[in-house]
Amino acid sequence: MDLKGKLAVLMSCAGDDREGVPSPPRLRNANASGALGPLNLRKVRIPGRGSATLLRVLMTNACSFNCHYCPMRRDREMPRTLLTPEELVRIFVQARARGWCDGLFITTGIPGRPGPVADKLIAVLELLRFRERFTGYVHVKLIPGADTAQIERIVKLANRVSINLEAPCGATLAPIAPEKDYDLTTASLARAQSLVRLERAERRDGKPGDALRPGGVAGMTVQFVVGATPDNDRTFVGKVGELYRTGGLHHPHFSAFRPILDTPMESVEATPALREHRLYQVDWLVRGYGFDASEISYDAKGNLPLSMDPKTASALAQGAKFPVEVRTAPYEVLLRVPGIGPVTARRIVAERVTTTFRSLADLRKIGVIVARAAGFLSLGGRRLQDVRWASQMSLWSEGEEVGARHHMYAFSPGTFR
Ligand code: SF4
Repeated sequence: MDLKGKLAVLMSCAGDDREGVPSPPRLRNANASGALGPLNLRKVRIPGRGSATLLRVLMTNACSFNCHYCPMRRDREMPRTLLTPEELVRIFVQARARGWCDGLFITTGIPGRPGPVADKLIAVLELLRFRERFTGYVHVKLIPGADTAQIERIVKLANRVSINLEAPCGATLAPIAPEKDYDLTTASLARAQSLVRLERAERRDGKPGDALRPGGVAGMTVQFVVGATPDNDRTFVGKVGELYRTGGLHHPHFSAFRPILDTPMESVEATPALREHRLYQVDWLVRGYGFDASEISYDAKGNLPLSMDPKTASALAQGAKFPVEVRTAPYEVLLRVPGIGPVTARRIVAERVTTTFRSLADLRKIGVIVARAAGFLSLGGRRLQDVRWASQMSLWSEGEEVGARHHMYAFSPGTFR
């Protein structure tokens, strides 16, 4: 198979890769890339360094494992191929020369033992850093069970490493991925986390960055398949909280389960994409807004309500804390009001020193989404609105939620997260 053919096979695995609510596929330059074939490009924010457009490449779609939910599982009939480190680097260098990307994301199936696969990833990184003198952003998916020395080398050369946990615990993962060793995966994760923590500490202590990797380490990510196991949202959020506390984690990825044709789970119902979206919203409340786990509201089954966003659900569940007085409430309290984000909360605190807010119009002017916030606010002791706009705030009601649109898929979500 020539390089163009290999790329067509590997990139086809990204055909349905998209996060959150359905949106158009992200494959770009499908007709313009000539010998490069269709490329999977994605713009991402890099902490402290603006953004980068990543070329996202699957090194091989061959795999020795037989995970029940995965399109690349061993027993599934499909064309298999792999890129050599040289080929992968050549594709990236050419795409970069055309101005299509300035960073790289590499993931891979695991054909055979983890060690040789990790060696290939290291070879890619060494070619990029030492031969091509590429100093930009590289994200590598770690192989569970790689040697400690291999993990150290990958963490040292990449900017971000990630690992697929798939489930929040080994007991629920085992029935759908019987050959996976959850403890081995978490041991690899823990090793990488400790290296990330160490590098950050060294940077804080003034150790200069590596000239070949000036951006340094960008923190890890982990990935979960949501809905493939019986784990509820509370368990996912709890697991992520545990990883944040351990350190080294930048953020998690949640991939709503979709049934893949010709797999043992092909007849299992798809997980609503909205559930994935709600988990991302909660993660942002914790990571960006400083919410405590105890502030998150779940239904009787321990899942986030689909019919309203988690911030609204949290506010409604803690009714005694509202309404919040705009003229006096501290920043952290304002931030708990639906329709007020960090920028607007900061503006309110800064402007009320010299300005007296008198009406919803005044609040709208400084960025408050009054249709969402009014029911949770008071101004000079006067409640701004009696109705809390809970039902109007949701984009979907449970009856029409997006899972209904999911059919059976040939490709997995989350291949490139
Ligand atoms: S989930 Fe990973 S290990 Fe399991 S079959 Fe798919 S590629 Fe292989």
